[in-house]
Amino acid sequence: MENTPLQPGLFGDDMWITSKPRMQPGKIGETVISFSLAGEILTRATGFMGEYDFTLNPYSGCSYGCTYCYAAFFSRDIERRNSWGYWVDVKENAVELMAKRRPSSLNGKLIYMSSVTDPYQPVERELELTRRILEIMAERHKPKLVIQTRSPTVVRDCDLFNRIEDNGGRVQVNMTVTTDDEDIRRTFEPFCPSNMARIRAIGEVQAEGIETCITMTPLLVVMSPYAFADSLVETGVQKFIAQPFHFRRGKFLAGTRDKAIDLMSEKLGCNRQSFQKEYLEHYDMVFDVLQDTLPELGEGKDGFAPPF
Ligand code: SF4
Repeated sequence: MENTPLQPGLFGDDMWITSKPRMQPGKIGETVISFSLAGEILTRATGFMGEYDFTLNPYSGCSYGCTYCYAAFFSRDIERRNSWGYWVDVKENAVELMAKRRPSSLNGKLIYMSSVTDPYQPVERELELTRRILEIMAERHKPKLVIQTRSPTVVRDCDLFNRIEDNGGRVQVNMTVTTDDEDIRRTFEPFCPSNMARIRAIGEVQAEGIETCITMTPLLVVMSPYAFADSLVETGVQKFIAQPFHFRRGKFLAGTRDKAIDLMSEKLGCNRQSFQKEYLEHYDMVFDVLQDTLPELGEGKDGFAPPF
């Protein structure tokens, strides 16, 4: 399918609002891109993220379309929930909203970016919405920022992560890696970058002197646990979090989920009936290997506690 280009334009006289997405919906690959005005760009963190002050989502929806994604349940209607992975809504005034915040008002505030999208959507390469939000943070605030992504595009913003640190803020970049098997990745995370690309990218972020963490959330089936653990260690990353796959999520994409469960069962050499038991045994085995190999391994909600 042909891509419809999205063109940045000029906007406003604030030095950080150097370009702004035009109000032209388009399509990138299979993803429909739309634009909307947000009421606020920072949301008070609650629930799983309750130890943070704010969550920050520059986009709604997500091009990566992971079949187990809980964020799909926060879609505003059933149609959007069912087409999760095929739409992204750009918060076109996100930079404006961030620029309006009183300077220093985010000093010391724990911000999780992002909780219901990935801040490095494919469209981010062109729009640079996340980047411009980071520019404002670097110049006006000293936040304690955790970036959560599956995209190698995060490497682009290492200069800003370092600037935030140099100006007195803190940054940790979390990269999600879920398996060493590309068949499984394609089935559960159809539009995501490969896990190898993610591993290479987080190694590059680490090499830039930025705090990093690899989040194996969820940890799917791993075909070669020792080689997988070695590839994680080779990145130089010191912190890791694992969490098992949740069986009841993702019903909104039941067809894909069935196919994905069948594939994992096949990889584990079991049938659908015994899959849950076999998977959990497999998870424990892989977790033990990782625990023996990795410098620091957290699990579940505790692992996601703010790192600063
Ligand atoms: S990258 Fe994150 S937000 Fe996007 S679909 Fe996957 S789990 Fe959901």
